[in-house]
Amino acid sequence: MRGDVSAKSAGTRAVILDGKAIAGRLAQEISRDIAALRSTPMLAILSFATPASEVYRKAQREQAQALGIQTREHACPMSATQADVERIIQGWNADAAIHGMFVHQPMPPGVDPQRISAAIDPRKDIEGIHPQNSARRFFAKARIGSCTALAVMRLIEETGAALEGKDAVVVGHSEIVGRPVSMLLLDKLATTTVCHVGTDKAGRLEEHVRRADILVVAAGRPQLIKGAWIKPGAIVIDVGINVVGGRVVGDVEFEAAKTRAGFITPVPGGVGPVTVMMVMKNTVEAFKLQQVVG
Ligand code: NAD
Repeated sequence: MRGDVSAKSAGTRAVILDGKAIAGRLAQEISRDIAALRSTPMLAILSFATPASEVYRKAQREQAQALGIQTREHACPMSATQADVERIIQGWNADAAIHGMFVHQPMPPGVDPQRISAAIDPRKDIEGIHPQNSARRFFAKARIGSCTALAVMRLIEETGAALEGKDAVVVGHSEIVGRPVSMLLLDKLATTTVCHVGTDKAGRLEEHVRRADILVVAAGRPQLIKGAWIKPGAIVIDVGINVVGGRVVGDVEFEAAKTRAGFITPVPGGVGPVTVMMVMKNTVEAFKLQQVVG
């Protein structure tokens, strides 16, 4: 077990995995990395005019600046077309001063996120969503991984647990979270099961969750995973972000789950801050990649 896991509080079992503290340590690693580069990485952020996107773009800008990463920003109206968005991306692809690109979601109606992912130069794809990067992940040869999946793996790594032969259960099979996380768990030789909406419809979610040594939940369904289902001592990583009654909550019944889990992430303050930092880490990785292959 590493240093940034806070102490267990009285009457609970789980160690809380403190995402903010881990993100702080990652920031130090990234700053050290940047200091050793011969020029400054530039992150380009494409957002769409929604209040949430504005807030997120500002947070990304401040985070980048704090680490010594420059930003270029463009905010499109929600009336932007596929051609409008692709034109901006192609301009950034051709601009050697830009090393990484982050495109916000949700995109305007009529803009296809898959086609947008494919339009990004794979060397500048810091979200790991270009088909070429997805394929590399499939063959365990990813150069740039999905930020959320990398954050999940970093949190698991913080527990110090060996994953080989352990039962890992991922709830959620989205392209951006569930699938990449399951690939990375397979790379660690965890026996990996992926559950999804079909598993729940078949009434079999509980039985899979109950045998998970490592449980990663990314469904976007508040309280989907009952505390009583958690295997004693399990590592529980809750990726879900839901707003219920004005409060942000995850997909796991946190209070009940922490009486059984060995380690658990809170929401907020778990996966989120580490994911934000992985965007920055991937920008630096993309910069290095571009120095190597021109
Ligand atoms: P998504 O909607 O693309 O996919 C949801 C997945 O959950 C699907 O695979 C679906 O089959 C599964 N699912 C839905 N209902 C289910 C049920 N009742 N039982 C079992 N599985 C069910 O979502 P996503 O983009 O993968 O995001 C998932 C959650 O993670 C959301 O709450 C999102 O906000 C959050 N998220 C958090 C971060 C972070 O950094 N913390 C990053 C990305 C996404």
